[in-house]
Amino acid sequence: MSLLDFEDRPWAAFGSCRGADPDLFFPGSEGDPREGLRICSGCPVADECLDWALETRIHYGIWGGMTERQRRRLLRRSA
Ligand code: SF4
Repeated sequence: MSLLDFEDRPWAAFGSCRGADPDLFFPGSEGDPREGLRICSGCPVADECLDWALETRIHYGIWGGMTERQRRRLLRRSA
């Protein structure tokens, strides 16, 4: 999956991650997520992105300003 695959995510065309290195958003469990999270923090479509990530239960990567671990925690709390 690409961050710029707009077919099911038309809002992604307006994401602050456009043009950014996709690796910043997939740091893995050992990597540093801070730069990806920093980019997300100013993103105008962060709410849409987070909603999509939660709805699709996507396991990997930073979406909507949250790491996979943060999203898992959020989902557990709201279950
Ligand atoms: S919230 Fe982050 S991952 Fe989602 S579109 Fe914006 S910059 Fe990209």
